[in-house]
Amino acid sequence: MSTFQDLGLNDDLLQAITDLGFTKPSEVQEKAIPILLDSETDLVALAQTGTGKTAAFGFPMLAKIDVDSRTTQGLILSPTRELCLQITNEMKLYGKYCKGLNVVAVYGGSSITDQAREIKRGAQIIVATPGRMKDMINRRLVDISKIQYSVLDEADEMLNMGFKEDITDILSHTPTDKSTWLFSATMPREVAAIAKNFMHAPQEITVGNKNESTSNVSHEYYLVNARDRYQALKRLADANPDIFSVVFCRTKRDTQKVAENLIEDGYNAGALHGDLSQNQRDLVMNAFRKNQIQMLVATDVAARGIDVDDVTHVINYQLPDEIETYTHRSGRTGRAGKTGVSMVIVSKSEVRKIKSIERIIKKQFEKKDIPDGMEICEVQLMSLANKIHNTEINHEIDKYLTSINSMFEDTTKEELIKKFFSVEFTRFYNYYKKSKNLNVSESSSDREGGRDFRGSKNSTRYFINVGGKDGFDWMKLKDFLKEQLNIGRDDVFKVETKDSFSFFNTENELKEKVLAHFTDFKHEGRFVNVEVSENRGGGGRRNDRRGGGKRDGRKRNDKKGASGNRGERRRSEGNSKPRRSNSSDFGSSRPRRSRR
Ligand code: AMP
Repeated sequence: MSTFQDLGLNDDLLQAITDLGFTKPSEVQEKAIPILLDSETDLVALAQTGTGKTAAFGFPMLAKIDVDSRTTQGLILSPTRELCLQITNEMKLYGKYCKGLNVVAVYGGSSITDQAREIKRGAQIIVATPGRMKDMINRRLVDISKIQYSVLDEADEMLNMGFKEDITDILSHTPTDKSTWLFSATMPREVAAIAKNFMHAPQEITVGNKNESTSNVSHEYYLVNARDRYQALKRLADANPDIFSVVFCRTKRDTQKVAENLIEDGYNAGALHGDLSQNQRDLVMNAFRKNQIQMLVATDVAARGIDVDDVTHVINYQLPDEIETYTHRSGRTGRAGKTGVSMVIVSKSEVRKIKSIERIIKKQFEKKDIPDGMEICEVQLMSLANKIHNTEINHEIDKYLTSINSMFEDTTKEELIKKFFSVEFTRFYNYYKKSKNLNVSESSSDREGGRDFRGSKNSTRYFINVGGKDGFDWMKLKDFLKEQLNIGRDDVFKVETKDSFSFFNTENELKEKVLAHFTDFKHEGRFVNVEVSENRGGGGRRNDRRGGGKRDGRKRNDKKGASGNRGERRRSEGNSKPRRSNSSDFGSSRPRRSRR
């Protein structure tokens, strides 16, 4: 194992490294720095985020540029504004003893004139996002015709985000004899093509295997019914009291909804997705960096720039559409030599994806059970005991001790401890005492698209008078319902389509909303009728009685007076509906209430 001195870095850089507290080079630094220092070469480096790759290209670039010149000599392209700012800050730290160094960040959503002014002052290194960089070139606000070193950081992400043309355009304004250093976590065909087209005989280094997840991250999956996803998420958070996590959802809407639910349920959570303004995103990211947010719920795109070192858990609330994206997600934890856990909440229909991911990351997942209520109570209790044990006494309390002592004169130490801990424990206990087992066995037949469509006592099964003839398969119907009712994908389940009618389930709590929405409801000119299916055991009997190709919901309504009856039924059910055991309120700092 070499030291930073062995790698051939100069004193200014070594001093900065000492200040930063880096004791030894990381693998990517050990491999890349000597190559880049010793030769004028192109380089392809396969390295995950969090492996120290910024320093791997940053130190050689700083060692090679001429700080006495005001000419722009180094250009670093990165996929997101967050990453761009992060790299700029790191470069400034690494180059703090390089007198005269000026590193300028160029990114969208901030004043282009201010950035142009900074560049005009003489920026030896520009760190840029492709879109804004292209804009600046077109407006002739920047001159990159004398670049000697260009870095394509997170190249796979930049291509994923559709920056291929911008990158090509930007590089066409740079000299052909420059050195290009490409860093990427994965090597899809598009990245290989960039390397082939824009680089000359690049040297290659790999940190770990291609696409492979860092060894610091362990991978776990939890099999639950899709409708229990949110409950499962809360339990995972409660079972890890010091969690500092990024929770990934597939869509912006789900991201927003999960974050809102978590906040309402008393967690320190925040949402990060593309529908938020830049200002809102900055606020959330700042709060996350300061650990004020424990659970950052994010889309893949929005999370691309997140380089926060202490993330303990990545939670895949839903798996990504492209399983390769999993590598990026899990790379948000286990950074800078720390260990991390990447958890996946899966339903039966997705469980096969776990095998495909295992092949990609070359790591095995551990199948784990969502902890039950009492396990969580125990973890919380022991965590509190530990915190109290390690708490420093605040002697400001001393002046109140006389009255407190007199209050507890007749209480033994054991009683006092029990009382003290009961304050917290009872809140969790009340919440979890009747909680159900969320785990699903891999062999059970209760799955979407499977045969068993029974409603449980917590869910309601509905009949709806549209089906295959109306162009609905179960997925389309699910999407339709989700959209109409403005609810999440997992809120509608056990969708079963027949030719002219269908069935679906929701949790009981949504019953009023569903029935109200579909009262006198017209879709594409025809009445769509939804009723509670009396036969919880499935669609069979109902089909025989009701199906009969009756395509006109209005007729059926008229004939059976369905909407009126339904109103009656709804009211009485509304009043008698028992509150679910985990609906109890227990304070603001803990999950107060389940909305599902
Ligand atoms: P990166 O992969 O460049 O995003 O780096 C991840 C984190 O590791 C950053 O916070 C760096 O400051 C830190 N880091 C980089 N190199 C080292 C090193 N040799 N030792 C300890 N930390 C490092």
